[in-house]
Amino acid sequence: MLLHRVLPIAKRLITERVQPGDTVVDATAGNGNDTLFLADLVGDEGRVFAFDIQQQALETTEQHLGELASRATLIHDSHANVRQYVEGEISGAMFNLGYLPYSEDPSIITTPSSTIAALDALLGIMKKSGIITITVYDGHEGGAEERDALLDYVSKLHQGDVHAIRYELLNQRRNPPFLLALEKMKDFTDVRTV
Ligand code: SAM
Repeated sequence: MLLHRVLPIAKRLITERVQPGDTVVDATAGNGNDTLFLADLVGDEGRVFAFDIQQQALETTEQHLGELASRATLIHDSHANVRQYVEGEISGAMFNLGYLPYSEDPSIITTPSSTIAALDALLGIMKKSGIITITVYDGHEGGAEERDALLDYVSKLHQGDVHAIRYELLNQRRNPPFLLALEKMKDFTDVRTV
């Protein structure tokens, strides 16, 4: 297959920029699939900081990590507070927005204000050439508002600082996710918008 779905593209972009020994962030740990992928990439010398506001998600993530759990720091807090926990530079971060699949409470969803606050913070602590991937679901209640706020935010990032792309399959039924990816083009700590 030449055209890949969204999640494999996100992983490919991250794989191109994250090296063994790097520090990375899983902003939405959920069931831990991306945390495990990142833990595998960074190796024994690297570190994954994984955030979730649901304790249930972090417990599932820890189980999912198995013997790679020592490479991850699991944080029961909002990704908006990432700067309180992550020291040094990161080379990549992944977001998988929306609600936790099979959750007891699917009304717990990512929100525009915390997602954008986290993006601002992560862009500031990311190395030049680092990548942030954001898998966006807009089919659930609140999803369309988050999509619109995010598209507005990423479209206004200064083009000299950040390149923003959108990747999506156009002819799929049932609201498939689309991907946003942000590449940091130069060193900065504060995000500029236009
Ligand atoms: N990447 C996950 C995986 O591999 O299974 C799926 C993530 S799920 C679609 C979204 C997760 O984001 C949920 O577990 C939810 O609790 C979490 N979440 C919602 N708001 C958050 C916030 N402000 N900070 C961190 N996590 C949040």
